Amino acid sequence: MITAHLPAGYVTGRAFARSGPVLWAAMLGGVLPDLDLIWFYLIDGRAFHHHHYWVHIPAFWVASAFIVLPLATWRGTQWVRPALAFFAAILVHLLLDTVAGGIKWLWPVRDRFFHLVTVPAAHAHWILNFILHPVFLAELAIWAAALLILLRRSPA
Ligand SMILES: [Zn+2]
Repeated sequence: MITAHLPAGYVTGRAFARSGPVLWAAMLGGVLPDLDLIWFYLIDGRAFHHHHYWVHIPAFWVASAFIVLPLATWRGTQWVRPALAFFAAILVHLLLDTVAGGIKWLWPVRDRFFHLVTVPAAHAHWILNFILHPVFLAELAIWAAALLILLRRSPA
């Protein structure tokens, strides 16, 4: 997934709330794993696929949820829905990255990427390979769904 994580976070967040901190938490969760691209480009010099970083490892988020969700519950019920929306959006992010990118769903048991579609390297630049592949239609559909939900939102 290249462009649709933010709108996917929005769609996920709208399943929890119409606006406010719950929606913002979901949008943050929708994009947060890809902040590893900063490290990927600036520190590691693109040495290996950024899905190797811990923010793209489901086991890390499961462990985080086991810590954060009880804390959120203890802190007060107003923290539970934003935390749930955040982790739901993280899950959606990882599922979308599984379509063509690959996620290590079984780490630490197996150190292997799982993906649904292999995008062939048919063009000189990797972005063209994804944009000109039918899998990019899924990104456009997510954008369309998010825009539809946004435009149908009644004024507060
Ligand atoms: Zn990602």
